[in-house]
Amino acid sequence: MNSDIPIGSPLRTEAIINRYFIHAKRKLGQNFLVDHDAIMGIVHAANIKPGDQVIEIGPGIGSLTEQLLLAGAKVFAYEVDDSLPEILRNELPSKINGEPLNKRFKLLLKDVLKANFKDDLAGFFDFTRPIKVAANLPYYITTPIIFALNQADLQFANVTLMMQKEVADRLQAKPGNKEYGPLTIAVQIEMNVNLAFTVKNRSFIPRPRVDSSVVVLTPLKNKPDVGDIKHFNWVVKMCFAQRRKTLNNNLKSLLPDKDKREQLITSLNVDPRVRPEELTISQFIQIARAIPSQR
Ligand code: SAM
Repeated sequence: MNSDIPIGSPLRTEAIINRYFIHAKRKLGQNFLVDHDAIMGIVHAANIKPGDQVIEIGPGIGSLTEQLLLAGAKVFAYEVDDSLPEILRNELPSKINGEPLNKRFKLLLKDVLKANFKDDLAGFFDFTRPIKVAANLPYYITTPIIFALNQADLQFANVTLMMQKEVADRLQAKPGNKEYGPLTIAVQIEMNVNLAFTVKNRSFIPRPRVDSSVVVLTPLKNKPDVGDIKHFNWVVKMCFAQRRKTLNNNLKSLLPDKDKREQLITSLNVDPRVRPEELTISQFIQIARAIPSQR
């Protein structure tokens, strides 16, 4: 049912929930955003312009999708809940700026963690132009989705994601913070991380237990040379295996030779009892170079 009231207004969302007997599925992280300012905040943070190509993860009943389309974007969405395509077809505007919906919107019923982005998007997106991601993520898989996007072989203009505040804090963390860890480093070697705004849990139906943040990730122009990325991420993970222990302790399995380990730690110019969370990204790069590859 097309309507002048945005899908993401509490009134319209309630009406849609009642019309289709929707029971939000917690196991799929279904928390529908009913805060028009927050929805428009995502559209603005992603700097959506007419003609933009946008991947949306989890359109739900279409509150963000609708505003992305009205801002002029072409939207490709991944969704796993098979009850939603029909609702989206009925509730999204059938025409956008005179164009039929199917020219501007494509829905793939597929777990985004199984996405093969290049194959899935072929024919709908033009790979010679950058792509944006805009999503209110299903929170139970935020971290794997960020890793999947980070490893996608796509040219991103920006990746704008709503996530639980705790994960956003990890993405932005600096060395010395308790939130600083493998996720921080995996993202910060590829992307600039900017917090756009935070959203209270009352902005969702049903309310999640935690507050949320919208984060904009923008690819770095000059990425640090980390060598083999899989090796680098693995070394970082191993360095944080026991984050309360010293780096020296964590390095034992990677570099069993005590002298070599001490030599490496000395070369980092740090206290010998340094903990992994105190190291900069450049120091992790130095460590990864000194550790033999497992492949
Ligand atoms: N975009 C809507 C909004 O803002 O109201 C819904 C967001 S809700 C937090 C997350 C959405 O992700 C749900 O529609 C859920 O069904 C979908 N989802 C959950 N797991 C998914 C997966 N593995 N792949 C794709 N979508 C998924």
